[in-house]
Amino acid sequence: VAKALGENQRRRYDPSMDDHAREQNRLAAELRIALDTGQFHLVYQPIVELPSGRITSVEALIRWNHPEHGFVSPADFIPAAERNGLIVEIGEWVLRTACAQAVTWRQTLGDRAPQRMSVNVSARQLTEPDFPGLVTEVLAWTGLGAANLIVEVTETAVFAGGQAVLAVNALHELGVHIALDDFGTGHSSLTLLQTVPVDVLKVDKSFVDNITMSGRHAVIASALIQVSDGLGLIAVAEGVETGEQAAELHRIGYRRAQGYYFGKPAAEPDFERTTAITV
Ligand code: C2E
Ligand code: MG
Ligand code: MG
Ligand code: MG
Repeated sequence: VAKALGENQRRRYDPSMDDHAREQNRLAAELRIALDTGQFHLVYQPIVELPSGRITSVEALIRWNHPEHGFVSPADFIPAAERNGLIVEIGEWVLRTACAQAVTWRQTLGDRAPQRMSVNVSARQLTEPDFPGLVTEVLAWTGLGAANLIVEVTETAVFAGGQAVLAVNALHELGVHIALDDFGTGHSSLTLLQTVPVDVLKVDKSFVDNITMSGRHAVIASALIQVSDGLGLIAVAEGVETGEQAAELHRIGYRRAQGYYFGKPAAEPDFERTTAITV
């Protein structure tokens, strides 16, 4: 972000000022403007059923098209928005936009529309007073059913405990599905499963990456599917890039996958196209 947003202006800065602090302030101001002037949009990436390749749900992913700097990656600006608190407002916009889109697709595509919309929610949003109330309001406002929404949270967000765990429980009570994102990369993956109501495990890309080359990776991916099956959860393999990976995942028991192989994030995914794997 420093590079994307700072370089043109750095020369003009008073050298006595702290570069990093200035950069953060600038980014905060830019994010504010982005939200107010509609520089954000959402793209949607399919999550498919194996082996058919049929799309079951889509994950909403935010995109920022900066008027001067062009595309800025969420991996850069989401952490910044989390630090300065703007993620709360940005996240509400994401939730409203994604839920509204899900309803629009239901109206225009009928049965071909994805069954569920998956939305990423940060720790900061989860610990806002009455986040479940906001979700209830957005569902009523858009007309989307609670069971058609998946909230993706990371292990670290939930592990913070307290308010975050209460919020997850309340969402679960509403009938919203809970997905643990980047599963397996936290410090307490399995511990969390004992106490937090979870419906979906999104097995991190790092476990998928070398699955066809490394026995160790395959063993771990396969252990995770056993845990998931044993607990009655749905495991989604993240970041599947090749047909070989997809076939191996299916062979060891995965029934859901997401990744460039099946479809890149797009404003209007092609819901007709399926990438079936041969078994
Ligand atoms: P995530 O939720 O784990 O999303 C998956 C990321 O992996 C996305 O990156 C997606 O484009 C990318 N991806 C999917 N399939 C493949 C693949 O086959 N290969 C590779 N190399 N990458 C793949 P993206 O869109 O850049 O988002 C990065 C992260 O930013 C997300 O990770 C999520 O943590 C965060 N994020 C994105 N949108 C939002 C949002 O609306 N709200 C919040 N709070 N966080 C968001
Ligand atoms: Mg996610
Ligand atoms: Mg993920
Ligand atoms: Mg990930």
